[in-house]
Amino acid sequence: MALSKNIKLVEVGLRDGLQNEKVILSVAQKVELGKRLISAGVQRIETGAFVRYDKIPQMQGTDEVLTQLYNWNKKAHYSVLVPNERGMLEALKYKPSEVAVFAGCSESFSQRNINCSIEESFERFKPVFALAKKNKIKVRGYLSMCFGCPFEGDVSEKVVVDMAYRLYKMGAFEVSVGDTIGVAHVGQVQSIFRKLKKKIPTKALAGHFHDTRGQALANILAAYNEGIYIFDSSIGGLGGCPYAPAATGNVATEDVLYMFQKMGVKTGIDLKKILAIAPWLKQQMGKDLPSKVGNVGLLRPQPIL
Ligand code: MG
Repeated sequence: MALSKNIKLVEVGLRDGLQNEKVILSVAQKVELGKRLISAGVQRIETGAFVRYDKIPQMQGTDEVLTQLYNWNKKAHYSVLVPNERGMLEALKYKPSEVAVFAGCSESFSQRNINCSIEESFERFKPVFALAKKNKIKVRGYLSMCFGCPFEGDVSEKVVVDMAYRLYKMGAFEVSVGDTIGVAHVGQVQSIFRKLKKKIPTKALAGHFHDTRGQALANILAAYNEGIYIFDSSIGGLGGCPYAPAATGNVATEDVLYMFQKMGVKTGIDLKKILAIAPWLKQQMGKDLPSKVGNVGLLRPQPIL
């Protein structure tokens, strides 16, 4: 199998990243971050979520962020998370090209995170898919806790594969397979994507890895070697892990770009421009960010004095 010479990154910093950060950015700050990312070549970008802002205040102003970014650049692909029909109806007012739904692969996580069973979560998706079809909007499916659950421990591969296939059959153009708590390891990633590929084409599969235990890049490479070429990442590594205080969250966009660029794999994103965002972003967040490449930059040989 020839591996792809191009990969696609889905920038999730504005949604998945910020949603798990204590600092709440204003609409202006979020729009500025979106503009900087798109200017660096980011093509696919999650811009927020139509959720209850009393519960997730970080996502407040998603409508404005989406509208302002769309008016500024109509070529980029903007996505918003919609948890249910109500969120979808709200999203429709702003005509995103893409929405995303979210399910957890363990009953305990599903109950705790979205207050419903796995079966009920699929029930909630039905009207979202129906409205999306009617309005010609693409739906991305997120599966979380695919490699382990903070409450139940191991998660069955069969459950993950069945849920991914179910989302795909419902009409998801892409299913993002998530290691939400950063427990996945290379052998597990290889095993699960081999099973997924038998039921879902690789062009409809994405990897969503967290660097909580330092395994994200290894896991991404393992998935890439299985023919997967769509990966989620977050600028600066924004987004902590709610179940492991002080742990790093989403794999950093800078780190993924560095790895693939050095491998000669194209991303369409300018790493230097992405790196230039880091000092500004640190200021906005009022803290250091976990991205390794983001913090040290590219190799710049020092003059020998
Ligand atoms: Mg994440």
